[in-house]
Amino acid sequence: MFEPPAFAISIIEKIESAGYEAYFVGGCVRDMLLSRNPSDWDIASSALPQDIISIFPKTVPTGIKYGTVTVITDEGKAEVTTFRSESSYSDHRRPDGVSFCSNIENDLSRRDFTVNAMAYSPRRGFIDPFGGRLDIKNKKIRAVGNPSERFEEDALRILRAFRFAAQLGFEIDCGTLKAAKEKAFLTAKISTERIRNELNRIFESNNPQIAFEIVANGILDFCGIKSKENLQDTANDCLRSTPLSLPSRWAAFFYLLKTRNVKAILEKLHFDNHTKNKVLKLLSELKLKLPMTPVDIKKRLANDFSPEFFTEYLNLYSALNNIDLSSQLSILNEIIERGEPFTQKMLAINGNDLIENGVASGPDCGRILRSLLDIVISNPSLNDKKTLLTLAKRTLS
Ligand code: ATP
Ligand code: MG
Repeated sequence: MFEPPAFAISIIEKIESAGYEAYFVGGCVRDMLLSRNPSDWDIASSALPQDIISIFPKTVPTGIKYGTVTVITDEGKAEVTTFRSESSYSDHRRPDGVSFCSNIENDLSRRDFTVNAMAYSPRRGFIDPFGGRLDIKNKKIRAVGNPSERFEEDALRILRAFRFAAQLGFEIDCGTLKAAKEKAFLTAKISTERIRNELNRIFESNNPQIAFEIVANGILDFCGIKSKENLQDTANDCLRSTPLSLPSRWAAFFYLLKTRNVKAILEKLHFDNHTKNKVLKLLSELKLKLPMTPVDIKKRLANDFSPEFFTEYLNLYSALNNIDLSSQLSILNEIIERGEPFTQKMLAINGNDLIENGVASGPDCGRILRSLLDIVISNPSLNDKKTLLTLAKRTLS
């Protein structure tokens, strides 16, 4: 088990010495049991926010309304939240209100999955009313209580189930999966940013292929990503071997699903322009013939590519088609190492040089620079000012 750091234990001890209960809860307990380093240390306590503020010299009232205060120490910080139960959910995504409660079991019962619904304190040991430890052992994601009701309350939990399965390499328990499928239509009510965020976390995990299960269960129907029966057998492996970058993973996902209207889907999911354009560009490049020779490669680089983007494209192409592209990658490296020109900016002359030599500014200039670039792409040794000016004059005459 991963041991909590001394600063976090001492926060728990100080709260206990003041006469309250305090436990590590949620993701940190799960991660400790999995011997993973938790991303943050969340504490649940019977103390009210005002009590916590008076116990510790340095606190930040992060979410007083929800009972959360951040305790800051020199060695680290932890969020301390008063035991809470949640009242009804009328919009399938937010509790109508929160109320504080007096015991940890109540607090744990509002949490989403058994593996996230455990508490631990060095003094009191584990509080595990829903069998989270057994589910960790069996690698299961199981809803706390009735899964249909839990997904009705908050449909984001449907996506969280798949996200935890992807991150932890777990399976979703069959009752929980069945309920996820039945309540799939409720995901249309969740903010698309939150959905995108969960999907991104799946694509950043070691099991991005779980995204296909989400699609197969109809969970993304609302945004136009529909289930495809003819997904090839190798799709899972292909997606897993794509470069671990969000644009590559999204592009591979759409490519393998043969999704149409990708632009509209990315817009519906409120992607930032940079990621959206990169995914679209990768997809349009994947449709083109693979460049084989140095000249082919430089022509593609000339088409508004950076070498980094081109490398990502090659790695993506290689994963999707299961072919070795190391020769293309080494050609690319050679082009860069030798400083061979592949953009107009890399030409030994520019528009001003042409104008000084009698070419009218405007379309002629652009046309000449483009044809000079074509020439030096095929023959990099011609990229010196004198030769290019001679060639330019020849083009004019
Ligand atoms: P991560 O390591 O990704 O942060 P986490 O388990 O800490 O995982 P958070 O989203 O930070 O996940 O939430 C902290 C805890 O709050 C969860 O472990 C869970 O107990 C509870 N929780 C969070 N979101 C929900 C939700 N939508 N419904 C029920 N409980 C939730
Ligand atoms: Mg967390």
